[in-house]
Amino acid sequence: MELRKRSRKPALDTLAVHAGRTDFFDLGVHAPPIDLSTTYPFGDLQQATASLETLVGGGADAPNAVYARLHNPTVARLERAVADLEGAESAVAFSSGMAAVTATLLAAAQRGSHVVAVRPLYGTTDHLLASGLLGLKISWTQQDGVAASIRPDTALVVIETPGNPTLQLVDIESVVRQAGSVPVLVDSTFATPILQRPLSLGARFSLHSATKFIGGHGDVVAGIVAASEADAAALRRVRVATGALLHPLAAYLLHRSIPTLPLRVENAQRTAVEIANRLAGHEAIRNVYFPTLPNCDPRRLIGRQMSGPGSIVSFELSGDFDHDNEARIKQVSAFFKRLELITPAVSLGSTDTLIQHPAGLTHHVLDEDSRVAGGITNALIRVSIGLEDVEDIWADLSAGLTAAARFHTDRTVAAGR
Ligand code: PLP
Repeated sequence: MELRKRSRKPALDTLAVHAGRTDFFDLGVHAPPIDLSTTYPFGDLQQATASLETLVGGGADAPNAVYARLHNPTVARLERAVADLEGAESAVAFSSGMAAVTATLLAAAQRGSHVVAVRPLYGTTDHLLASGLLGLKISWTQQDGVAASIRPDTALVVIETPGNPTLQLVDIESVVRQAGSVPVLVDSTFATPILQRPLSLGARFSLHSATKFIGGHGDVVAGIVAASEADAAALRRVRVATGALLHPLAAYLLHRSIPTLPLRVENAQRTAVEIANRLAGHEAIRNVYFPTLPNCDPRRLIGRQMSGPGSIVSFELSGDFDHDNEARIKQVSAFFKRLELITPAVSLGSTDTLIQHPAGLTHHVLDEDSRVAGGITNALIRVSIGLEDVEDIWADLSAGLTAAARFHTDRTVAAGR
């Protein structure tokens, strides 16, 4: 079908509004068609067989879609939209962020059985690698140790930037250089394609838990990987074989959220900068992790690798409870119980502000030594700033911090210290 010609390269905001929709005019529609078919009738058996071969082999499209596990046009539209935002040839969507991570690892396992991984990573990604579930051997390292960890059988380097939950920034170009010919996977969930495009820095895969900012409304679980067409074909082969599909209704909702992605990201980021600055000066806090704060971006990657810091802020409550886990958990609970507006819940990137305790929830699956080595102490709290007014968010956080400080004072007095 002839598409309407565009003479200008659109800016990112424009792209977000129109990505995956460029054929609407010709189709005579204004919203993406939803195709819920699980199977597709064929008129010509030979054409259906050829289509099946193409799709099982990782092809993006075929004259006959054959069966929903092989191809779905609503999902393909979403994939086009995310690929365009990432500046990628292709993208492949999955039923969750973890399904996307798993598929990328399984595709890599065709090339070799060794993976280099830079901590910190999201707790379940760390667990998937460390558990040996996929039969891969893992070398854990820091961002400057990638070159020394590469072996002849290394199939993939896995990094996450900003890292969950301490917002550590990893220098993508440096890791790509160190990895040489080994592909680099960047989990770019915290950054979104609005703030960071890893493929333009040499990474081979840019992965998102689309459950977060891309979905943005707390009602879809999904994952997506942007890559070259050749790498996407390998991911589709895994998806066809393992069945970790994204449902077309979920794809529709994700696609519906993309036009507002830049607005949501920029608005939440503006609020997060203000909140992080205020938290950094608060006496009930001993440490704030946020890329624009002093010492949080030693390699000066904000402005170079990432156009802004994003909207996730983590901080540690003060108080000398480091050898008394029970008291620390009670203090964190006192903080959460005082909140009236902010939602105590895992996940992030939603319209509402979400707050959670990584050591007790998102990173609980890690063993305690790895957790503490990665800065994920019991004092650490992670906030995903939403779209509420900054003063309302601050009033709620301040009340929580007052409760946390009071808990500390009361304990100190009771202990006669
Ligand atoms: N990557 C990051 C950075 C995450 O924060 C998460 C989930 O929190 C995932 C991957 C996994 O995504 P999902 O929960 O959609 O499986």
